[in-house]
Amino acid sequence: MTTLFAKRALLTTGWAERVRLTLRDGRVAALTVDTDPEPGDLSIDCLLPALANLHSHSFQRAMAGMTEYRLAGRDSFWTWRELMYRFTAHLTPEQIEAIAALVFLEMQEAGYASVGEFHYLHHQKDGSTYDNLAEHSDRIMAAAAQTGIGLTHLPVLYSYAGVGKVPLEPGQMRFGNDVDQFCKLVDQARSAALALPADCQVGIAPHSLRATAPDDLARVLQAQAAGCPVHIHIAEQPKEVQEVQAGLGARPVEWLLANAPVDQSWCL
Ligand SMILES: [Zn+2]
Repeated sequence: MTTLFAKRALLTTGWAERVRLTLRDGRVAALTVDTDPEPGDLSIDCLLPALANLHSHSFQRAMAGMTEYRLAGRDSFWTWRELMYRFTAHLTPEQIEAIAALVFLEMQEAGYASVGEFHYLHHQKDGSTYDNLAEHSDRIMAAAAQTGIGLTHLPVLYSYAGVGKVPLEPGQMRFGNDVDQFCKLVDQARSAALALPADCQVGIAPHSLRATAPDDLARVLQAQAAGCPVHIHIAEQPKEVQEVQAGLGARPVEWLLANAPVDQSWCL
């Protein structure tokens, strides 16, 4: 057990002064504000909660060196994505777990205590499902358990290559789920997460307005969003903004706010 005394601390309620905080087994066991220090307290000037890293695609840590430089006029987000697709075609579940464990460790060394893992690499190399539909979710959770980082696991619903239900491209087959299969995957991931520490949870992440469709989005929110974080790549690229504007009649944020029950559990 350790007790800290901070002249000021940032709490969920805002800044507080003269805060005494007891830690037991790595968790906050007691917290008092406007109080005095006691002998043996560890004295601190200013106490902040550790940052959460939102969001992460942990497997991309292992391709960083392949995409360090951009050739003017030749490279863009879309050429980067092509290389990323070639890279993901090689990854095994064991490698996905090992890379995630490495990067979760690096995050903690850098001061992060938790991560939102925006997880879209779900299936086998040919796009077929593993015997365990949530194989890769289990691998991400294993990496979190091994390294001790707090995890908000965000399985991604990725069904289409573009607005208007364009079929997935070959490089996207490992990401693809329809709403029914996605719901099964999320249910399995939630069962698996019950074995993890209290700072681990499972949310959902409709990938974007280009990779899901209005009717699918409504269904998945209805089925899976109650009481959990919802995360979306809402406007990643100018080309995507134009596509959404042409297909859905509004810019992505504008469309989402008008058509989805966005509240404080959402992160855009
Ligand atoms: Zn992202």
